[in-house]
Amino acid sequence: GMNSEYANQNAYDCIQIHGGSGFMMEYACQRIYRDARITSIYEGTTQLQTVAAIRYVTNGSYIATLRNYEAIPCSEEMQPLMDRVKEMANKFDACTNAVKETQNQELLDFVARRLYEMAAVCVMSHLLIQDATKAPELFAKSAHVYVNYAEAEIEKHFNFIRKFKAEELADYRL
Ligand SMILES: Cc1cc2nc3c(=O)[nH]c(=O)nc-3n(C[C@H](O)[C@H](O)[C@H](O)COP(=O)(O)OP(=O)(O)OC[C@H]3O[C@@H](n4cnc5c(N)ncnc54)[C@H](O)[C@@H]3O)c2cc1C
Repeated sequence: GMNSEYANQNAYDCIQIHGGSGFMMEYACQRIYRDARITSIYEGTTQLQTVAAIRYVTNGSYIATLRNYEAIPCSEEMQPLMDRVKEMANKFDACTNAVKETQNQELLDFVARRLYEMAAVCVMSHLLIQDATKAPELFAKSAHVYVNYAEAEIEKHFNFIRKFKAEELADYRL
């Protein structure tokens, strides 16, 4: 799910970088753009993968995985990033618990994608920290760049979920 969404973002940027030429049939960008678009539909749409993944948010599997990652030693250079990712996991956990406490299934369904994306960016951050610990020359920059992005994503979802009131679900119904 996550890779197919990134493929779409990259293909979108690819056309944008090439300007008007990227949109034309003569260039590979337009084909890449169309090819990327199907990846979030076949072999499981992003939405149905969210439906499958949300149970691992609510049953505590993801937060347990994140706590395990936090126990893996990292390099001194990566320690500040590790500290930030621990804070991110705390926010993910706080959001998960707040939603679970409402015992409102419709609310859980509504914020499911945000919750699993919070878990996903934390997992990705840890994997990059581990890679950068082993091979800083290859992965340290990516780890720094990615954690900046991931932290902003966490803040976005944390804000949305914390401020959202179940009564507002009515605004989203037909
Ligand atoms: C080029 C191509 C190749 C394919 N190849 C194969 C193949 O080799 N083998 C095969 O078995 N199939 C194949 N498919 C079919 C593919 O698996 C389906 O397109 C895919 O599973 C989505 O189903 P659908 O198109 O019926 O969309 P729908 O199920 O109608 O989904 C439409 C939208 O509704 C959303 N949605 C549906 N149900 C829910 C729900 N419960 N909660 C939230 N959102 C929901 C979806 O996420 C999607 O955004 C192929 C399709 C294409 C286009």
